[in-house]
Amino acid sequence: MMKSRVLIAGGGVASIETALALRDLAGDRVEVEIFSPSRDFVYRPYAVGEPYDTAHVARYDLEDLAARCGAKVHLDSIGSVDAGAQAVATHDGEKFSYDYLVVASGAQLLWPVPGAITFWGIADELDVRKVMGRLHSGELHSLAFTMPGVESWALPLYELALLAESELAKAGTDDVTLTVVTPEDSPLQIFGRRASELMGALLEERGIEVVSGTHPVRFENGQLITVPEGHLDVDAVVSLPKLEGRRIRGILHDPDGFVQIDDRCRVLKRDRIFAAGDVTSFPVKQGGIATQQADVIAETIAAELGIDIEPQSFDPILRGVLWTGEEPRYLQGWLGGGHGETSSLTAEPPWKTSDGKIVGRYLTDFIAEVDRSQTPQVIGS
Ligand SMILES: Cc1cc2nc3c(=O)[nH]c(=O)nc-3n(C[C@H](O)[C@H](O)[C@H](O)COP(=O)(O)OP(=O)(O)OC[C@H]3O[C@@H](n4cnc5c(N)ncnc54)[C@H](O)[C@@H]3O)c2cc1C
Repeated sequence: MMKSRVLIAGGGVASIETALALRDLAGDRVEVEIFSPSRDFVYRPYAVGEPYDTAHVARYDLEDLAARCGAKVHLDSIGSVDAGAQAVATHDGEKFSYDYLVVASGAQLLWPVPGAITFWGIADELDVRKVMGRLHSGELHSLAFTMPGVESWALPLYELALLAESELAKAGTDDVTLTVVTPEDSPLQIFGRRASELMGALLEERGIEVVSGTHPVRFENGQLITVPEGHLDVDAVVSLPKLEGRRIRGILHDPDGFVQIDDRCRVLKRDRIFAAGDVTSFPVKQGGIATQQADVIAETIAAELGIDIEPQSFDPILRGVLWTGEEPRYLQGWLGGGHGETSSLTAEPPWKTSDGKIVGRYLTDFIAEVDRSQTPQVIGS
């Protein structure tokens, strides 16, 4: 039997989950090829621990991961797609035809708040560490954490604040004010009302102030200027970056570079092309969401290839592991609407878990298994 050729543009979370799900559901019917300009699969959630020396970003060899999923890697990015011809061209000019294409090229990170320190998640931890040093030495007395918009992933914002509070408390550094300035109506509102209230209580218990419904504009002369019009007097500001989708020619993107998809994660107006992960216009840019989209895509492709499976539509559940500097907390919420009351923040995970921070049907156990079989390379250790 001829195998269907599935090309994946991207070598990140959505890509590996798609390859794993396809191997499980349609193993002998597909050949999967991953295109990525980078040799590394970067597991970014651990980045929040870098400034506090409690964790390090893990990098895995993409070719090794792909081989374990039965996929092949091309170390090149996809530059353009010719949907009519069902073909892609790489940046190096090579052409490849496909039966199915999965766009999983992620988001690029943009500078968000002039004057503030940006927490890029990689290679910026030194800036945050320097600020922490100045708080410990008594040179600075206040620090604000912020993010430019609600359409992203807010968890690292709260983790950075909680980890900072924990480090300062353990060192006996008092007389420091920590504030979270967020455009959200309430902390981690995306999880739902109940979880958000519990999050607010946790922050209050830890003495972290919250200014909600407020967008940061710029930081100058000791003032964080905000919209609605106002300012916060503060010694330093750390902001999460602004996200924009990574564009590929031939794919329709919205003005911010994101790709619109339907409930089967098909790219609108493009046959046989799907998209998953941060590049999609789905407002929550999160690894767990990327894996759920990847699973929907794999099920849909498997069903189209005649495998006896009822493909699910995308009905996201948000799961987050919150590092607090003490015991972690587990957040869960349904994004389909109407589930606000059942959202939760608990001391034990309400899902089957291993140690990872990205909760995915296949990826979580897969990464845990890889970790057991090798030592991942770390940055900044
Ligand atoms: C500090 C931080 C903490 C986080 N914490 C969590 C957490 O606790 N839990 C959680 O679930 N999520 C977390 N996230 C979010 C999570 O890391 C992302 O949502 C996830 O990595 C998105 O996966 P992706 O596959 O869409 O994109 P990525 O993982 O970014 O992968 C995109 C891939 O596409 C490649 N690429 C780019 N352009 C092209 C092209 N033209 N052709 C081919 N390849 C291309 C890139 O090289 C890369 O390999 C965190 C993120 C950050 C920054």
